[in-house]
Amino acid sequence: MKITFLGAAGEVTGSQHLIETDTLRLLLDCGFFQGRRVESYAKNSQFKCDPGKLDGVILSHAHIDHAGNLPGLFRAGFRKPIFSTAATADVAAIMLADSAKIQTEDARYMAKRLKGSHPPVEPLYDQKHVDGVVKLFEPLDYHEWHELSPMLRVRLSDAGHILGSAIVEMDIEDKGSRKRVVFTGDLGRRGMPLLRNPQPVPGCDVLISECTYGSRVHPPPGDLKSALLRIVTETSIRGGRVIIPAFSLGRTQQIVYFLNEFYEAGVMPEIPVYVDSPLSTRITSVYSRHQEVLNMNAQKLMSLDDDLFEFPYLTYIRSNRESASLNYRKGPFVVIAASGMCENGRVRHHLKHAVADDRNTVLIVGYQAQNTLGRKIVERQERVRIFDRDYPLRAQVEVVNGLSAHADVEDLKWWYEQMASQTGIGQAFLVHGERDSAEALASVLNDYCDEDVIIPDLYESYEV
Ligand SMILES: [Zn+2]
Repeated sequence: MKITFLGAAGEVTGSQHLIETDTLRLLLDCGFFQGRRVESYAKNSQFKCDPGKLDGVILSHAHIDHAGNLPGLFRAGFRKPIFSTAATADVAAIMLADSAKIQTEDARYMAKRLKGSHPPVEPLYDQKHVDGVVKLFEPLDYHEWHELSPMLRVRLSDAGHILGSAIVEMDIEDKGSRKRVVFTGDLGRRGMPLLRNPQPVPGCDVLISECTYGSRVHPPPGDLKSALLRIVTETSIRGGRVIIPAFSLGRTQQIVYFLNEFYEAGVMPEIPVYVDSPLSTRITSVYSRHQEVLNMNAQKLMSLDDDLFEFPYLTYIRSNRESASLNYRKGPFVVIAASGMCENGRVRHHLKHAVADDRNTVLIVGYQAQNTLGRKIVERQERVRIFDRDYPLRAQVEVVNGLSAHADVEDLKWWYEQMASQTGIGQAFLVHGERDSAEALASVLNDYCDEDVIIPDLYESYEV
């Protein structure tokens, strides 16, 4: 059996690994490379395998760096099944449609800017390729072995990373012998709101593991739930607004879930709450449809409340006009809007109208990269620039960290230990992490493996 690392090798984007035997060609994930525009475009526009000759794709989860190039694969001739959990299939359909829209808009913008001085930038795919590829999804239940062909059986276990995320176990028949290959996808953390813990799986011959935070220990999760209740209560007493920049997939639903819990417990101030992002709204409806895969706490709450993402003061905003009308709304309210780092999306409009008033609060709940508007707010700079204008930052700024969706080195070690105690690990490969992260984790993982851990380079192949 040969494994070729076609992405997320020595970096964190473009997850894509090809498994080949004499009779099987299987792609694990088909993610987008992200980063510098020209370089990523070149990598995304050419597949290093022949899409028409693949027997199928197994998708670990719906993040765009794992699923984003599936419509590109379709465009290049792929017509075979894509196996994933049902929740992943539903979230992916939304994420891919959004990606097609962004690319079409970007291409239009670039064409205007370049004004014929360069050849036009083509989107990598459009909505018709998305429509084509979503028809290829074949959802698989968690926890059961599925015989996909005489040469392949697959089991998906909960990875605890985002809704529907899976660890992929594969039994692959090759030249008369059967090998167990495990792909972590992205592993989540233990004890996170809404999601179940990453599930331990038995040992394997070959492990392909992510290593995003292979050299880091996350700070203990800040108590978002109690901070959220305190901030919403205090700000509503001041008559101010709470602005929460949040990514559409994951964080937005965690916050809505907590607010709904406050409502059910009778402690939520009676003020309006708005989710102002069409993408968040669409994804939240998938969470509502797949509440069966949420954790025990969520299941318990569901016995009292049939929809964890709906309560009477909550409105999901769709149109731009409705969104803009909030800027002139009087009285206290809460708005959750994308993007999470305040660089794009509707949240910038809300910040523009909120930062100068000290009754308001900006609640930051995720990592803010350097040079982003979010980081400037976290640093409590005196003035912040939004849409080419400076505004004084007088609003309260609250930061609750430690909600990363990725396992840290302690979580990974815990997971490897469980695996090693159940029949051990033969050969391991570390992907989806930068070099220093991979090297640090290799020294940990080596203790659990029969052979030295390998950190593959991009496009490198290994016989296993
Ligand atoms: Zn992910």
